[in-house]
Amino acid sequence: QGTIIVQMRAAMLAAEYILLLADDRTEFTRTEEVRNDFVANVSHELKTPVGAISLLAEALESSADDPAAVRRFAKRMHKESARLAALVQDIIELSRLQGTNVTQQARAVDINTVVSEAVDRSQLPAESKNIELVVGGHADAMVYGDQDLLVTALRNLIDNAIRYSPENTRVGVGIRSKDGLVAVSVTDQGEGLSPEDQERVFERFYRVDAARSRHTGGTGLGLSIVKHVVANHGGEVTLWSKPGQGSTFTIRLPEVEDQDLDTVPPAR
Ligand code: ADP
Repeated sequence: QGTIIVQMRAAMLAAEYILLLADDRTEFTRTEEVRNDFVANVSHELKTPVGAISLLAEALESSADDPAAVRRFAKRMHKESARLAALVQDIIELSRLQGTNVTQQARAVDINTVVSEAVDRSQLPAESKNIELVVGGHADAMVYGDQDLLVTALRNLIDNAIRYSPENTRVGVGIRSKDGLVAVSVTDQGEGLSPEDQERVFERFYRVDAARSRHTGGTGLGLSIVKHVVANHGGEVTLWSKPGQGSTFTIRLPEVEDQDLDTVPPAR
């Protein structure tokens, strides 16, 4: 119970900090309307888990002599604080991406390393739904950028493919290079997206089914983060999908030419 309360306090402090940060970051770069929108969205999103935690804390206090109820409330508090922590982390990441010039920390990065790291880290959630992660293709290609950010972006796509697919299906990750561009695509056999939703999924906090996204640990910020990371690397992310037939998200990045490699600092 002590850990939960410490975790909860930390998450709440971080939430307050974020509201300040969101206010600050956007002040100089966005119009007043967009700024107010973002702050309103962030406040709204943070209020749900913060409100739930506060109610659960009250319930916990009044059920001190009922061990089964204490365990039940503590478990739910744990879940809500984990959700709050994920939300806080994604908001910080997005805020950071909106302000950084990624090329300042850029290196030549092997795209195969990005794919294998992202796939390795998504292995557990895939196993929990008996989803097979299949990697296909290979490209002798380097891109110029921040390896950790690229892994984060690809991981968001793979985790979504797993999250929005039924059990016992396959998620494919394909790599290819063509015309100076490296493409990494993530294909699932999930529920797919309607044309209207396809237009909006990259917006901050947009979810087709908010309850489902929350239930499965989504924050509604994953695809915004992907879009920003890819744009910061001079690339683009596209989506093909049909309801009932699954989705393919593709990241395309400019390939570093052989002759440029001498002047690009090596990967970390
Ligand atoms: P979330 O944290 O809710 O997953 P994202 O920004 O990553 O937020 O995605 C926004 C919404 O797009 C999701 O809530 C979901 O409705 C939809 N979505 C994302 N990826 C997929 C996918 N592979 N298949 C179907 N729907 C998806």
